Amino acid sequence: MHEYYVTEEIIRIACETAKQHQSPVINRITVVVGELTGIVSESVEFYFDVLARDTAAEGAILHIVPQPVSRLCRHCQSEFHGANAWVCPECGEPGELIKNGREFYVESVDLPD
Ligand SMILES: [Zn+2]
Repeated sequence: MHEYYVTEEIIRIACETAKQHQSPVINRITVVVGELTGIVSESVEFYFDVLARDTAAEGAILHIVPQPVSRLCRHCQSEFHGANAWVCPECGEPGELIKNGREFYVESVDLPD
């Protein structure tokens, strides 16, 4: 159910941005959602259609970018994914966490030119 509040927040941020640029409409909203946030993209999309009605965000494309947990191997520089993957699949060295999968933010709000 927290997708409802998450979606409200996305729309609030997007409409704020549109207002700052005096744009009555929004083309596209890009949101980054980490895989460990527990946020279900389909639910966000569902609430978005409902909550965006009669706002500048109505009709905007909601683009959700899933963000996996990522680690970078210092030894061979390969990047690997997975919440429970600690060591590099290439060389077996422990990787350094570079994306923790708990991200949630509005990356961009695209307005008409
Ligand atoms: Zn490696």
